[in-house]
Amino acid sequence: MICMAQITVNYSSNIKQATLEALENSNLKSLISPGMKVSLKPNLVLGKPASSGATTHPEIAEALISYLRDHGVRDIEIIESSWVGDDTKRAFRVCGYEALGKKAKVPLFDLKDDKCVKLSAGEYDFEVCKKALDTDFLINIPVLKAHCQTLMTCCLKNMKGVISDMEKRRFHAMGLHRPIAFLNKAISSSFSIIDGICGDLTFEEGGTPVARNMIIAAEDSVAADSYCAALMGFSVEDIEYLSLAAEIGAGRLFDESTPALELNSGDKPIFAKSNGEEIRRLSGFIAESQACSACYSALVFALNRCRRIPGKISVGQGFKGKSGALGCGNCTCAFDKYVKGCPPKAVEILEFLKAL
Ligand code: SF4
Repeated sequence: MICMAQITVNYSSNIKQATLEALENSNLKSLISPGMKVSLKPNLVLGKPASSGATTHPEIAEALISYLRDHGVRDIEIIESSWVGDDTKRAFRVCGYEALGKKAKVPLFDLKDDKCVKLSAGEYDFEVCKKALDTDFLINIPVLKAHCQTLMTCCLKNMKGVISDMEKRRFHAMGLHRPIAFLNKAISSSFSIIDGICGDLTFEEGGTPVARNMIIAAEDSVAADSYCAALMGFSVEDIEYLSLAAEIGAGRLFDESTPALELNSGDKPIFAKSNGEEIRRLSGFIAESQACSACYSALVFALNRCRRIPGKISVGQGFKGKSGALGCGNCTCAFDKYVKGCPPKAVEILEFLKAL
């Protein structure tokens, strides 16, 4: 039996298959039933393709739709509202969701056209789009990527797409963290499937994607986000809304007792060069030989947060049994100093670098 808190992590670059495998090995099956209306909420913050690192790969939604249909769910829709100033319908088109909607015969709803209702949690009243409430089961499909204000964005912050534009502006005026935590108390997603394929290194708008090749499934979005924070080099304390969300009962933080199931961990995809000036700069500090993308991306995220990089760091299966100075991951265990893990999390690499 799969426990509610379980995080299922699949290492693969085959997006559809990775999504289906992650779902099969999660507890989603026990949560859905044929008569349900299920709403999918991707991250289409703006009209840029998923390869930019900004938006959710449509292949994940496609796999999810086929999984739901295989389990008898017929009433499925995709809902989203892009950020203020951007056109959701354009994002649906550019990001491949218009084509997906036609192919899979699933309706798309631009929440900017929706009516809003008031929901309260703690000290806040929120204007939430009706469509996000008129559903039996809300599946969040965020991208794991950086954010210029909250440092990271994943499950909890992606829920900002179900509020009105006026409310989005108010969230920024309120400093984002507290309202994000309370919004997830007021309306929480029923399940999340996280796009960890190539989220952006520095900015929610994309342009600096880093190949990570991971799909993560979880029921508890606070547990999922706190797990993902470590993948990006952050501790729970770095992301204010995480501990707050746990404190007010929106979910439980990931810790050593949280079951984490890894799939294909012995067969992780090999890193492929990412574009972007920042990544090119950081790659100057990396010696790479057959590195898995999960390991390489963790190192890139850690280096991006490191003020003083102590020297060249080696990463990859090509370093197995070889000696050297600084290594990242168990493949470099014969090095003078190395970070344990296969792959290590970015937060662990950062700690290692700081200690040097
Ligand atoms: S330690 Fe080696 S096998 Fe493990 S993720 Fe890193 S490069 Fe891949």
